[in-house]
Amino acid sequence: MNVCFYDFNLAELQSKMIEWGEPVFRAKQIWQFIYKKYYLNPQLWNTLPKELRNRISEEFSFLPVTEIKNIQSEDKQTEKVLFQLQDGKKIEAVLMKYYERNTICISTQAGCAMNCAFCATGQMGFIRNLTAGEIVGQVLFFAEKLKSAEKKITNVVVMGMGEPFHNYENVMKAVDIINDPDGFQFGERRITISTVGIIPMIEKFTKAKRQINLAVSLHAPTSKIRDLIIPANKKYPLEQLIETCRIYTEKTGRRITFEYALINGFNDSPEEAVLLAKLLKGMLCHVNLIPLNNTSKFDQKGSTRERTNDFKMMLDKYGIACSIRLKRGVDIGAGCGQLLTQA
Ligand code: SAH
Repeated sequence: MNVCFYDFNLAELQSKMIEWGEPVFRAKQIWQFIYKKYYLNPQLWNTLPKELRNRISEEFSFLPVTEIKNIQSEDKQTEKVLFQLQDGKKIEAVLMKYYERNTICISTQAGCAMNCAFCATGQMGFIRNLTAGEIVGQVLFFAEKLKSAEKKITNVVVMGMGEPFHNYENVMKAVDIINDPDGFQFGERRITISTVGIIPMIEKFTKAKRQINLAVSLHAPTSKIRDLIIPANKKYPLEQLIETCRIYTEKTGRRITFEYALINGFNDSPEEAVLLAKLLKGMLCHVNLIPLNNTSKFDQKGSTRERTNDFKMMLDKYGIACSIRLKRGVDIGAGCGQLLTQA
């Protein structure tokens, strides 16, 4: 199998050119064809010598993710793409076109080892980590697609299949590649990474002082409740997780987002809202409330509108910034936690 071209960062591409006896400036030329024009076929790089284009075509792969299925939501604003990887494994990613935004939700693993009870990806188990190139490939796919409509990706949420902080190095390398000022130049502030709460990795991320937004999947105001739906809570208990998040906000000065899937009659009472408010008191944070989306192996339902509003009102009362996330793409199984593929 050929090496995926998007696994390279610019410095590595420059080393490759030197290794091949090519002038080093070729690397930047190639880089710009890919990351500025989205010419993902070397034969289109018309200012490069034919032999070099041929050699690159022969030795590298430019299609780490191949679209094999595409479904649009009824309102045409959400689109879910099923990709096949070079080894035949499959992942999904989602494009959401709302207001002036074009947000893409990308995957970092095929499957997921976290096994959260309510999440379809968790229910399918872990298959493997994606490479940096496979993560970048998803971004380029949508960038190229939007280009034909003269549009651009405005936001990237790393909230698709997988636990990004279980694939930390590849995820960060992918972010660095799309952030590169000579190429795609996508600002870290427009990227959000969501984690189930892998404490050592949040600590590492804190030290890295990056501008990427951090979201943490909380879903419960106590460890006792969280234990019932998020197995990772055994290893990384809520109290310790919150403490780590607090340190993150203090050390970086950045606001953290907490995701809270509201499950009817399970974690959505006004008392639970109060417990949550007390837990987060004084922290630079925002809570995203998401009424649970249905998945086949979890039989509980999302909170009713009334309970959702009551929960929000209680958080408001206690001064916790929060919003209710609208359900997007649920008719095509593209909502949070609904991404699932057959291995
Ligand atoms: N592994 C990462 C990112 C993937 S999921 C994480 O745990 O954060 C992105 C978000 O969707 C997470 O907050 C996840 O808990 C949430 N989610 C999963 N299943 C869901 C469902 N059925 N309904 C609503 N949100 C869900």
